[in-house]
Amino acid sequence: TIDFKWIKDNKEAVAVNIRNRNCDADLDLVLHLYDKMFTLQKEVERVRGERNAVANKMKGKLEPSERQRLIEEGGKNLKDGLASLEEELVKLNDRLQQEAQGIPNMTHPDVPIGGEDCSTIRKMVGSAPKFSFLVKDHLQLGKELDLFDFDAAAEVSGSKFYYLKNEAVLLEMALLNWTLSEVMKRGFTPLTTPEIVRSSVVEKCGFQPRANNTQIYSIDDSDQCLIGTAEIPVGGLHMDSILSDSLLPLKYVAFSHCFRTEAGAAGAATRGLYRVHQFSKVEMFIFCRPEESEQYHQELIKIEEDIFSSLGLHFKTLDMASEDLGAPAYRKFDVEAWMPGLERFGEISSASNCTDYQSRRLGIRYRPSEAQVTSGKKSKGNLAPPQFVHTLNATACAVPRMIICLLENYQQEDGSVIIPEPLRPFMGDLSVITRK
Ligand code: AMP
Repeated sequence: TIDFKWIKDNKEAVAVNIRNRNCDADLDLVLHLYDKMFTLQKEVERVRGERNAVANKMKGKLEPSERQRLIEEGGKNLKDGLASLEEELVKLNDRLQQEAQGIPNMTHPDVPIGGEDCSTIRKMVGSAPKFSFLVKDHLQLGKELDLFDFDAAAEVSGSKFYYLKNEAVLLEMALLNWTLSEVMKRGFTPLTTPEIVRSSVVEKCGFQPRANNTQIYSIDDSDQCLIGTAEIPVGGLHMDSILSDSLLPLKYVAFSHCFRTEAGAAGAATRGLYRVHQFSKVEMFIFCRPEESEQYHQELIKIEEDIFSSLGLHFKTLDMASEDLGAPAYRKFDVEAWMPGLERFGEISSASNCTDYQSRRLGIRYRPSEAQVTSGKKSKGNLAPPQFVHTLNATACAVPRMIICLLENYQQEDGSVIIPEPLRPFMGDLSVITRK
């Protein structure tokens, strides 16, 4: 349930927020449709009332002519009129929901306003490794060590697909298993998820499968999509439910494949593994009480920082600027790691606090415990009214860019690549990738 009344009452702030986030949303149209719907709803209720009154009269004793008159004039006309009004209401509601998709979440007051360049650095960790030889990029290293096959993948699937081979496969499995176990150690419940989901769930999570240039692959002749991230099926896990307060926070860590069209990515760094159509990822997701979401956002970025520090990467954490937040996030921290072959920092993860943006659309609420209920807030039976939970998501490990980082940062003069310590137990104690 989008809170249209709140949007209407805070129209100025919402308009400023849409401008700050450079979103394509027509607020006036949304409010016009909302008002129209409000009026139509009242009309539907009025006609429904009349129809019920006629139905009640017909239950009593009536002259046959009077009964016939009520059937003709009252019952039938009202019934037909009501059916067409209800149909109009459904169409209007669809249009309203569609237009409202463009309206983003509100923005944390500390978020820098502007485009990508305005994002601020929260933290810088480590330093770039120094090499006394000519540095190779991951493509060259992969070729020499026989770790990928992009050509065969292009024939079999298309561009931006890949086969991993030999130790690259072990590296992928080790990254997934190690990050999963690291996050589980911190109390997160592991999940694997469906990778095909209903389009309606994608939309409720704040993504737009029907938009031009969408990142989402839709499946022809169905109402389903491939997931771009496990955030979608995990977000949907508790759809349309009221959670008990004692269950919160619910912390999940999910493995899934991710599928992205990468529409509009031309010109961006697209070589090799950097931007591909399919990849595997370990994703963290938290459902929590509203007052705790900022604290959990900090916890999620800390877990990411711990993971990347343990792998010995040089990285920075950014407080992302308003235009880079996407629709659902209230605030987003990205991590960018140094990729020596590419000679730049590249985004490797992202942690977002989506507050109640997704939970409102997905219908996920909780009932605060008695102790939390403050005066005047209690509903019938002295139970606290249900409230929307907050949702947060964060990357623990998106494999392709991690492979780029590891190969490029740990390359040696003799062409081999050292495996970082924490991953070795997950790859049969292998410590170096080398070819004789
Ligand atoms: P996002 O869900 O868009 O925040 O992405 C999470 C992480 O997935 C990013 O930080 C990247 O490491 C990775 N990622 C996103 N898109 C791609 C892609 N097309 N190819 C490879 N990795 C990607």
